[in-house]
Amino acid sequence: MEVCISRSELSSYLASRRGNPRVLVPTMGALHRGHTSLFDRAGEVAREMGGGDIVATIFVNPVQFGPNEDFEAYPRPLEDDLAKCREHGVNAVFVPEVATIYAEDRSITITENRLSSTLCGASRPGHFDGVCTVVAKLFNLTLPDAAIFGEKDYQQLAVIRRLVRDLDFPVRILAGSTIRENDGLALSSRNVYLTPEQRAEAPILHRALVATARGIADGRLTTPTEAGDEFLHLISAADLARLDYFEIVDASTLEPLRAFGRSEPRLIAAAFFGKTRLIDNVGVQV
Ligand code: AMP
Repeated sequence: MEVCISRSELSSYLASRRGNPRVLVPTMGALHRGHTSLFDRAGEVAREMGGGDIVATIFVNPVQFGPNEDFEAYPRPLEDDLAKCREHGVNAVFVPEVATIYAEDRSITITENRLSSTLCGASRPGHFDGVCTVVAKLFNLTLPDAAIFGEKDYQQLAVIRRLVRDLDFPVRILAGSTIRENDGLALSSRNVYLTPEQRAEAPILHRALVATARGIADGRLTTPTEAGDEFLHLISAADLARLDYFEIVDASTLEPLRAFGRSEPRLIAAAFFGKTRLIDNVGVQV
């Protein structure tokens, strides 16, 4: 596996693989089974392309963190991360420094102003502009044919599909399903921040989403308002959880649903356990 730190190392690697299809998996590191499932999926896609390469990136992107967020504290276990990349068949990892990605006097940022105005975007102003900007740069630097993103970050996936559509990036976007602990908690690099008490309560986020989705699927909850009330009731059982938002949205436009029937619903929520903000989402199995 090639480890590229500088732009020139990355360029040399790409030149040595000229003509080979490439699948990109962007990450911020602190890799867990959620990330490695994306590497495995990238491997399948690369094989379908007739022997393509898997390129991963590990970059904690300062531009997508708010001023009071955890950019400095974000875990960076690089050696472990590289070992996981190797074990899962990654061909090259790009691990740039911040100064390699951003010029000090950079003055251009990509702005997404529809899908980002709600949900996590409302709680984290500027976050998705930072994501769009770095993903666009990583696409330009690594020139992938396809890129894989997790459904765990559902709004991010929708925003990136929009980025690719609206700016004509020649990259196929694929979704990886959410990998969970046995008790349903979605794997996240931020789960390490949870105290044992918070960790014990955290699976309620997923349980409440699933129970509400089931109520919609079996016709017991007939309107989004009823479903919202049910979710609030279920999550209120957790003393340590402070709900940030719960929404039932159209799975592709992320517009809040006023009624069930026409579009595919997606249930999305975020909750704080102490200072740690966890997100999750589920579809409705009809
Ligand atoms: P991050 O390192 O948090 O930026 O995540 C990198 C990629 O991994 C994103 O596309 C995430 O959606 C995806 N990801 C994070 N957690 C999970 C998970 N539990 N299951 C599947 N994919 C995930």
